[in-house]
Parts: sequence; C-alpha cells; structure tokens
Amino acid sequence: MKNSLFIQEAYLNGEFISSENTFEIINPSTNKSIGTLPNLTVEDCKKVIESAHEAWLSWKNTPVGDRCAIVRKIYELTIQHKQELAEIMTLESGKPLSESLGEVDYGNAFVEWFAEEGKRSYGETIPSMNGTTRISTIKQGVGVVAAITPWNFPLAMISRKLAPALMAGCTMVLKPASQTPFTAIALAKICEMAGVPKGVFSVVTSKDSKGLGKELATNPLVRKLTFTGSTEVGSTLMAQAAETIKRVSFELGGNAPFLVFDDADIDAAVKGAVAGKFRNAGQTCVSINRFFVQESVYEEFSQKLAQAVKNLIVADGLAKNSQVGPLINASAVKKVTQHVEDAVSKGAKILTGGKLIEGNFFAPTVMTDVSDDALIQSEETFGPICALFKYKTEEEAIQKANDTPFGLAAYFYSENVRRCQRVGEALEAGMIGINTGLISNASAPFGGIKQSGIGREGSKYGLDEYMEIKYLCYGI
Ligand code: ADP
Repeated sequence: MKNSLFIQEAYLNGEFISSENTFEIINPSTNKSIGTLPNLTVEDCKKVIESAHEAWLSWKNTPVGDRCAIVRKIYELTIQHKQELAEIMTLESGKPLSESLGEVDYGNAFVEWFAEEGKRSYGETIPSMNGTTRISTIKQGVGVVAAITPWNFPLAMISRKLAPALMAGCTMVLKPASQTPFTAIALAKICEMAGVPKGVFSVVTSKDSKGLGKELATNPLVRKLTFTGSTEVGSTLMAQAAETIKRVSFELGGNAPFLVFDDADIDAAVKGAVAGKFRNAGQTCVSINRFFVQESVYEEFSQKLAQAVKNLIVADGLAKNSQVGPLINASAVKKVTQHVEDAVSKGAKILTGGKLIEGNFFAPTVMTDVSDDALIQSEETFGPICALFKYKTEEEAIQKANDTPFGLAAYFYSENVRRCQRVGEALEAGMIGINTGLISNASAPFGGIKQSGIGREGSKYGLDEYMEIKYLCYGI
C-alpha cells in the first residue's frame, strides 16, 4: 500500500520498533490480513510507562504556549494527511471512506479545541474566611496517563483523550484496540512530525489486552486511566485502578432510546433516526438501540423509516457510495443475528432486512412490534437494526426509555417546546438529542451516567479530567 502513514511498527519512547513476535490485523470487508504489528508484552509496557514518567518531568514544565504550538501542529498535519488516515481507518475498521474522512475531521476538531482551551486552565482567588490567610488555586496536569481505546472510532477516541492530556502537561501511553491499531500508529507518526518530544506519547500494540490493560491500570507511575469500551471491561479496569487510587474517566456502553411523539415532524424524525442509527453500521456507543413510537404515528413512522432504510447502500467501505459497511467481525455478526432471531421468535415483524448478506455484511433492518422482553430491549446490539416499540403516553415512554442500567445518549422528536424541556429533564442519560440524531461535538461535554461511564470528554470539562486543583494557602 502506498501510504506514508501505514507503518507496521509500534511507537515506543520516540522510536518506531519492529518485532519478531507479531499479530495480524484483518480487514472486516474482506476478512483478509492488512499487515502485522508487534505483539508487545507486559514487560515492554512497563518500560514504556517508565519512559512516559521520565518524559513527564520535563513536559509538565514546557510552557503552555510551546505545548499549544505542538498540538496545533498535530491539527494542521492531520488535515494534510486526511486521505491517508481515512484509508487506513477504512481498511482496518470497515467503515465507509466517507465516514472515515468525517472521523478525521471530527477527531481533529478536539485537537483544535484543546489547543485553544489548554491556554485557559485558570485558577482562582477565593476570599478566606479568616483574616490571616489568602487563598488561591492553580491547576496542574495529573501526570502519566494510560489510555485504552476501542475499534469503532480508531482515531477520534484517541484524539479526544490525547489532545487535552498533552495540553494539561501530561504524557500518555496508549493501548489501541487490537483490531484497529494502524490508525493509532499513523497518529503517532503525525505527533512525531509535529515535534511531540520523545516519550510524551507512546503506542503499545498487543493482542494481550488483558495483560497490558492490567499493567496500565495498576502501575503506580500511571496517575490516570482513561478508557472507552464496554461496561464489562470498564468495571474490571476500575477495580484494578482502585488499588493505587488512580483518577479514571470511562466512556462505556449505551442502550440509547429514540422517542417519537405524536407532535413530531415525522420526516425529520426519520432522517434523524437514519443518521443516529446507521453511522458505522450501528456500531457506536451512542447508536440508537430502541425506538419508542407513540401509537398514533407508529404506522407512518415505521413505513417511512423502512423505505429510507431500504435505500441504504451496503458495500465495502472503499467502494464508491458505500453508506453501510461490514460489522467488525464474526462475533459481532453472531450477536446481531441472535438479537434479530430472538425478537422475531417473540413476535416481531421484519419490514426490511433481517438477515446476513454475506461475510460480515448484515442487511440494514427495521423490525416492528418488538416485545418488551426481547434481548434488544435490554442489551446493546451494536449493529444496523431498528427495533420499534409502541407506547401510549409520555409517562410510559419515559419509563420505558429509562428502564436500563445504561445512560449514555437518548434522543426524541417533538415540536412542543414545553414537552422538549420536560422530557429532556426526565430522560436518564448524559446526552440528549432533541430533534436531532447527531450529538457529537468537540465543544460539548460527551459522557454518560449510570453504568455508561464516569467523566466527560470534549469541552472545558474534558480538560479538567487531566488536571488536579491545587490550593495555595498564604499566611500574611
Ligand atoms: P469493544 O466491544 O468495543 O471491543 P472492549 O471493552 O472489549 O469493547 O474493548 C475496548 C478496548 O479494551 C480494546 O482496546 C480492547 O483491546 C481492550 N480490552 C479488552 N479486554 C480488556 C481487559 N480485560 N483489560 C483491559 N483492556 C481490555
């Protein structure tokens, strides 16, 4: 492949490293190997953490203006290399090239945002309750950060952790998902070109997610763990990080509801539903998993949605006009198939799709009359399936939407301003899309409540996740 950012080496302490011991990365569209990367060990990981600690001692004292110039350079180089990054991303994740190009812009928006916001990590002066002291606060970076990221957004999930960490004066050791590590290595190359000093950002590649994950979560030199992935793994990592009282921020699984009220603009709701459901073939943590539609508009919404879904073009991400790519692998196909079969066995009707096309490509699906005890109501499907439930009243819709241990994103459509406020307040989720199916934005706080996570990414809050507040007490 002619692509200067496609590098089959890990990036450790400022050097690209190859190894005899490697693992293969598979293109989900073809099930063929794209290349190999070093299968690093826990011992390798330990050394890299030590180098990140070493680097932190000088990076934290690098003036914020200098750090800003470097992060800004990452932003500019990413724009220059947009096509190369997107091609790597499509090859290893399967997502349509148009989405990969979009993800480069999306991820890079965080880099731009934090290059600016990092200059504004202001402290405060606070009136003292006694006359004998004066109080001020400063913010300082937490130290070495360990990051573990998933395969569904191979670039953006890294950018929104790396940029604030660098601006806060932290160094980072990243363990990208073993399915999509080439994008992470490409980003490391961009960081090197941008002048990120040796050891400030390292990428450890490995098949041993468990072993390296444990090292990153327990090593005392790591002061903060940031993770995006499943709730199950997040819970394990949180328990491991507890031993050394690390700061954590986790962005975990969701089970997003999408409510259509009888006063909604139905055509707009259909558009929002397709946008919020089929990005990355439904494999995003904010993907809609459950559609609740009020009974008087149920028929109209389901018919219009089925029509829109029928028109989606399913193809290899590199094919022209591809709108929906493959699922990531065979086990993802298995889960999606199981959710559809389970719903059908409990009475659901398929309006379109409902089956595997070939390989990892599952047909975009709309199912109606899904019963409340279907698996898809309680588990995140992570696939191109629209499951439609019916409700009568606003109270019932809210109760059903909130009937889940997850609380990442929720969406609803209504033209009634009072209902919008009321329902927005009542839904238990960290992010609410009101008359929109797309909520991600670098300047907004992204994150969940309940078992969907802890902490926020993006916005001014995303910078605070990498900083400690220090209180200075002056006797006078
Ligand atoms: P997903 O369903 O997105 O693959 P996972 O939580 O399984 O979610 O994976 C997210 C990231 O966590 C990946 O980088 C994966 O390699 C890593 N991972 C998986 N299992 C563990 C584990 N036991 N400890 C640490 N990291 C893990």
